[in-house]
Amino acid sequence: MTLRDLLDLPRGEMATEEVPLWINGKPTLSAAGNVHDNTEPATGKLLARVHHADESDVARAVDAAKAAQPAWAGMGVHERAARLNEFGRRVVEVAPLLGLLDARDGGTAVKSMSASAMKGGMFFQTIAGVAPEIHGRTIPATPSGFHITEPAPWGVLGMICAYNHPTLFMCMKIAPALAAGNAVVLKPADQAPMTPVIIASLAEDLLPPGILNVLTGGAQTGAAVVTHPDIARISFTGSLGTGLAVQAAAGASGVVKSVTLELGGKNPIIIFPDVDPEIAAAAVVKGSNFARVGGQSCGATSRLLIHEDICAEVLDRVVEETEKILIGLPDDPASDMGCMVTHDHRDRVLGFVEAGLSDGGRLRSGGAAPDEPDLLAGAFVRPTIVDNVAHGATIAREEIFGPVLAATTWTDESEAIEMANDTRYGLTASIWCNDIDKALRSARSVDAGYIWVNDVEVRYPGLPFGGWKQSGIGKELGLVDDILSHTRSKAISIAVRPLR
Ligand code: NAD
Repeated sequence: MTLRDLLDLPRGEMATEEVPLWINGKPTLSAAGNVHDNTEPATGKLLARVHHADESDVARAVDAAKAAQPAWAGMGVHERAARLNEFGRRVVEVAPLLGLLDARDGGTAVKSMSASAMKGGMFFQTIAGVAPEIHGRTIPATPSGFHITEPAPWGVLGMICAYNHPTLFMCMKIAPALAAGNAVVLKPADQAPMTPVIIASLAEDLLPPGILNVLTGGAQTGAAVVTHPDIARISFTGSLGTGLAVQAAAGASGVVKSVTLELGGKNPIIIFPDVDPEIAAAAVVKGSNFARVGGQSCGATSRLLIHEDICAEVLDRVVEETEKILIGLPDDPASDMGCMVTHDHRDRVLGFVEAGLSDGGRLRSGGAAPDEPDLLAGAFVRPTIVDNVAHGATIAREEIFGPVLAATTWTDESEAIEMANDTRYGLTASIWCNDIDKALRSARSVDAGYIWVNDVEVRYPGLPFGGWKQSGIGKELGLVDDILSHTRSKAISIAVRPLR
């Protein structure tokens, strides 16, 4: 059986063979035979048994990466881009199957996961298209010399992913890193580890062995990647708590490392009273990301800050629209929304709803698991809307990463901005207003790395995405800038002697 065959796993069946690590261009079992159960959150059934890497596996992967990287960098950007373009084509070709496996593995509806897998493949092709644009600069420091900078790869990168888009996040991380001439050691999320290993196998004959390594595993594997002395740069996506642990571990490793962190958010959607309630309601539902990923989205606008005058009408419509979302088994193409990634996470989400209600919030919709018989065994939660939420209540402050919208009203523009900024996070914000002064003033005043005005949810390629404050440090998706972020700038001065 090849890893590609896992994509043809019939619905309801589990993999008959263990899922290996991918080291040095081939499937590799963990040295210690460290194998873990990987279950489907929608059914609680076993999907596969997956190898977890330990320190010795990380060391093997880094050795392979170190050995392979100079030749990959020496190949030149045009050749690397051509190979990455073909890699992307192969991902696109099997995107519906990758999406289906991601849906079974992580619980999100296949409709959304297939679209996101397709985006992942296409992202490779976009990066391949812009990669030849990377260049250094010539600086006019003196009239008698050349003073230039050259972008050089770091060498071996450690990349760690969150669980919500297994295929897409892998593609988004590795494409610019590889285009820049680095080798990669990628650790996918422990809850949804299968597609990244399969994706690596799709490039078996395209990437020199060792250039892309995928080490499945949990916190221990991630920590071994972060602290390995030959990994000079870490790109991490995950929660604030883990991000802080990664930064601390990198610092304590005794080796100076570059660390970028894409972390969580508690993102506001601010609605001014001049907005058509129908348009406002559609924006609130779209921004909540209930339908796509069950609210398990870092950029979801899960905190509604709405002017008191239109709150009642907009929320009535939001409730009506939300109740149309079809919750169902993730591998059913008809489902709009699947389940949470684990049963523990489902319980955590419901715990936040309970806290919100005991803090004085009013339940407008959802707030419980669905009672359809075929969903009882899974980690499902109905999309939940709580209004009358006091600013400062836990449900309005903590990132829930689930299908929960907390609504708070305001009467004065400065009050809205103050509430929007009164959070430790600063990832995204969406502002809806027909008065251009108020809209742009608000966009300037909100402390977040990515702001939509009269728009929400969509991320535009080329527009760098990344958080302010405790939502992280560094940007992704900036295309050429994204590739350059995986390089170190070298300055070279060349003196030119005058004619004697
Ligand atoms: P998490 O922090 O629990 O785990 C993220 C990754 O870190 C996983 O691969 C995990 O195995 C690994 N890990 C855990 N402990 C580690 C350690 N000590 N050292 C190294 N690695 C370790 O996050 P999650 O639950 O997978 O994802 C949800 C979080 O990710 C949310 O906070 C969400 O907002 C955030 N997120 C952010 C973005 C973004 O672009 N800003 C995108 C997606 C998700």
